[in-house]
Amino acid sequence: MALRFPILVTGGAGFIGSHACKALSQAGYLPVTVDNLSTGHADAVKWGPLVNADVRDQTALCRTIREHDVEAVIHFAASAYVGESMTRPAFYYDNNAGGMIALINACISTGVKQIVFSSSCATYGIPAGGPIRETTPQAPINPYGRSKLMCEEMLRDCSSGHGLRFAALRYFNAAGADPEGELCERHDPETHLLPLALQAASGQRGPLQVFGTDYCTRDGSCERDYIHVSDLARGHVLAADYLAAGGPSTALNLGSGTGHTVFEVLAAIQRVTGAPVPHELVGRRPGDPPSLTADAELAAKTLGFRTEHSGLDQIISDAAPSFGLADARKARHGRHAAE
Ligand code: UDP
Repeated sequence: MALRFPILVTGGAGFIGSHACKALSQAGYLPVTVDNLSTGHADAVKWGPLVNADVRDQTALCRTIREHDVEAVIHFAASAYVGESMTRPAFYYDNNAGGMIALINACISTGVKQIVFSSSCATYGIPAGGPIRETTPQAPINPYGRSKLMCEEMLRDCSSGHGLRFAALRYFNAAGADPEGELCERHDPETHLLPLALQAASGQRGPLQVFGTDYCTRDGSCERDYIHVSDLARGHVLAADYLAAGGPSTALNLGSGTGHTVFEVLAAIQRVTGAPVPHELVGRRPGDPPSLTADAELAAKTLGFRTEHSGLDQIISDAAPSFGLADARKARHGRHAAE
């Protein structure tokens, strides 16, 4: 396949960034990762060069862009723990908003015009209910969400003032792992439901705490829209294609459009792996909206994006091996086939 062009990927050593690098490479782009490895993993950078630098280091960004003839950037590098953002807000604004402005300035001074930005459904805060559209008012309730909204606003201003074009991709809950087993989810500390529940099911940690059982949802636990990380990765490739083809700046939800409650996730883990998830019921986690699900139609219309791997069972099946669990349904199927 002919090389399309090099793309700078900030945070390409992280969970979503590394999956995006694989998808970019499969689509013919050369992903050039800039990552300070503060939370990412060098061994996840397999599809292009790794430059060990901080995203706030504008000189390093400009040097990398020039050295590799970069024509577009995808910006993942950021701090992404909602709880931590409440206790270290200054750090979140420095890293997330500071990283964004350093990258925008690097783009302006090197002539790069296309930016795909990793935004979040956390920019919506606690919406009124029902699937969230891109026109739903953005009213974040924590410094993490506010820092992402600030980045979107910087991009909006700079696209009219400096002729940049951007796609802000507002993710719902990224989960799962590369179906071919080349990458997985590794956070330290881990705070996300799926990896924590798989660790509890495999005995790597004690019971999972279910945060809140009195929400106004089907079963009282929080509802989220889980999207397979490989689908998310492909969404970035489509966004890069869209900007390369001259598409105007846009903001798009990337979600599956389907919500699952915490209890539904625990039941699915048992169904898929055969292992029950030991859990205990505790109070609500501050700042958790009851229900977040995407209206995914605009991304479908704008990018032709549809999820292919985001059924809850497949997300769990692909994530399970890195937690020492297997898809028990496949094992059963294999036994039947051998009989
Ligand atoms: N959750 C939970 N126990 C945990 C971690 C998460 O009950 O140990 C719940 C949390 O309240 C939320 C959902 O699982 O409703 C997803 O949380 P996660 O931290 O994975 O993602 P978030 O939606 O906060 O970005």
